[in-house]
Order: sequence, then C-alpha cells, then structure tokens
Amino acid sequence: MNILVINCGSSSLKFQLINSESEQCIAKGLCERIGIDGSMITYTPAGGEKEKNVTPMADHTDAIRLVLEALTNEKTGVVKNLDEIGAVGHRVVHGGEKFSASVVITDEVMAAIEECNDLAPLHNPANLIGINACKTLMPTTPMVAVFDTAFHQTMPEEAYMYGLPYEYYQKYKIRRYGFHGTSHSFVSKKAAEDLGKNYEDLKIIVCHLGNGASVSAVKNGKCVDTSMGLTPLEGLIMGTRSGDIDPAIIEFLAHKENKSIDEIMNILNKKSGVLGLSDNLSSDFRDLEDGYFAGNENAVRTMKTFCYRVAKYIGAYTAAMNGVDVICFTAGVGENGPLVRSMVCEYLGYLGIKLDEEANNKRGDDTVITTPDSATTVMFIPTNEELAIARETVRLVK
Ligand code: AMP
Repeated sequence: MNILVINCGSSSLKFQLINSESEQCIAKGLCERIGIDGSMITYTPAGGEKEKNVTPMADHTDAIRLVLEALTNEKTGVVKNLDEIGAVGHRVVHGGEKFSASVVITDEVMAAIEECNDLAPLHNPANLIGINACKTLMPTTPMVAVFDTAFHQTMPEEAYMYGLPYEYYQKYKIRRYGFHGTSHSFVSKKAAEDLGKNYEDLKIIVCHLGNGASVSAVKNGKCVDTSMGLTPLEGLIMGTRSGDIDPAIIEFLAHKENKSIDEIMNILNKKSGVLGLSDNLSSDFRDLEDGYFAGNENAVRTMKTFCYRVAKYIGAYTAAMNGVDVICFTAGVGENGPLVRSMVCEYLGYLGIKLDEEANNKRGDDTVITTPDSATTVMFIPTNEELAIARETVRLVK
C-alpha cells in the first residue's frame, strides 16, 4: 500500500509517498509560501530529478491539489491515479491528554484535535487545515493522525507536573507534554532492534538534536520523562530557542528593554538558542563546528554550553531511570555531528563510556560509537519520522 505522509505548517506543507511493503520513499516534496506571493512546489520522485515550480497556491487545498497532480503526472508521477494511494498519515503536533496513540481520523477526532488548539496555536490549526484539504480532495481515502506528543503520555505525574498552583493544571491542563515523540519512539525501538535486545528490558536515553532539540528517557519501552514541556521552548538550547531559563528573566528583560510579553517570547523562540548565544554567528551547527575548530570564541562558548546542557539532561535521566543501557543520538546534529557527540560523551565517564573515535567519525546508517568494553552503549541512529507515520497509518487502516 502507498501511504501519503503530510506534515502541514501554517504556510508550508511537506509530503512523502511511502510504499509500506518496501518501506521506501517513492516521491517527496515541499510546498512553500502557501497563501503568500511566490508560492512554490518542490517535487522529487525517487531516483529522478528535483523539480521546482513557482505557481500560485491560495490555500492548503490548492497545495494538496498540486501535490496530487505531481504524484499522478504522466511523465514524472509515481502512481497512475489516486486509487493507488491507500491512506494518508498526518503529523499532528499536539494531542493534549486526549491522545496517547495514533488514531483514524473521524469528525469526533477532528473536534478533539481542535480542542487542543490552545496548547499549540501555531501548529494544530495548520494540521487541521491540511486534514480538511485532504478530505476535500480524497473523500474516501482513510486518514490517520500521528501525534508528536503521544509517545510521552506514559510519563508519570511527578515527571509531567510543574511546581505551579494545581488549579492551572485543572483549569488549563498546564503540564509537560513533550514533542518529537514519533522520533523518540522510532529511534529507541530501532536501538533495541539493532542491538538484538528486548525493548521492554532496556533503559534508553534518546537525544534528538536538530534545529529543535529534545531528550527523552525510555524505560522498559515507555517514555518516563522528556525535556520539552507545555511547548517546545523548554529543555535543551536549540537552533533559535532558548530552552530552560529562569522564568524571572522574562519580566527582567521586559522592563530593561521596554518590550511586551509577545516580543520577549519572540526573542526566546526565534533569536535565542545557539544563534543568540553565538552573538548571531549562526544557528547551523556546521558553521559552529567550523568556528569551534578555528578558535572563534563565540563558537567555542556556544558549543560548550550546548553540549553541557545535553550532558546535564543525560545525567538527570540516568537518575530518573536508576541507570541507562543505551544512549542514542539522532536528527541533523545528532546524526551528523561527531564533535557534539564526543563533547557530550566527555562528561559521561561515570557511566563507563569509552568512545570509539573512528566509529564516531562515520556517517550513514545506525552505528555503535562506543568500544565493546564500554559499560554503556552509545549509538547514532538516523531518525525517520515519515516512515514511522506511514507504519502507524498502515497499522490502523489495515
Ligand atoms: P534537523 O532539524 O533535524 O533537520 O537538523 C537541522 C540541523 O542539523 C541544522 O541546523 C544543522 O545545524 C545540523 N546539521 C546538518 N548537517 C550537519 C553536519 N554535517 N554536521 C553538523 N551539523 C549538521
């Protein structure tokens, strides 16, 4: 069965068509600037040339129409007609406390996703628009929602509660939810599989280090803690997000810089992280690595602070699980950044970790980067959220 995986943002839409038997991506692409001048679709069939077309897209329904046209195009398409698309899997950012697993989309499910809009005002409405657009154009094709928060719903109360008046949890459901759940789930399961061990017997820490970054603790196959919170702003220092800060800094800065809460939040989300910390050198770790090796002091400070924070979370989650068997690095930096991995592992001597420098410098598929006598195994595993969404979709529609 071919599964169309859709990841819809407010003005963009990423898609992949995945064959569920071979688990190969047979075409992928991106619609950008939806509803804005200069809308553009990029489409790449597997093994074919990348095509870029600037073409008007008034809304997400227009965008999905163009995606379906590209997939069924006589020359460069990969399917004959829409009947060859068996189901659609939608990435949905926030499932609140309502969704602890993926679900087949019904009218009731759409209403429940809408009820979570308050918790992710930038993302959930866009996800719903994408679902509605697909329903309009493919009314009989089954659809599944796969939530970024679902994997973390197994966290115990002591991990998800904040030290705030309890009434705010009761009234507004303010608590830790966590994100990147599809990736944390995929990578932790893959680690167990690669090592030939039983997922339910392991204590695994996953460090998803991309432009957004989060750590999770997975004990006996269940997430017991994660670093992102009510929103993706908490936890690690990210590309442009601050991660953990003293909440009093918000008031302090608002007074000193004469800024509104919205302006401060914009700084914390878009102008902080490694970008802000490096005095605007870059939010891209490739530039920061180059700067680090060249002795640029902004890059050195940023790399050290970023890696220290990751190591601190690994320590916290080792305590939370009373030990750790496997540490996995994933996402853009985690998969491709040997420097970050080795700088983090330098803090982890107490776990008996012995890094294999040669393995750490490799790129590509899943790799163990510790020596055979290392007391804890460290690996890098490329994440594949689209494949994870396709697998969930097939599981629920079959
Ligand atoms: P993601 O959000 O998972 O797509 O990750 C994006 C980030 O991965 C980029 O901002 C880069 O900083 C980082 N990245 C990608 N390739 C490399 C690389 N070869 N070395 C270090 N960092 C990389």
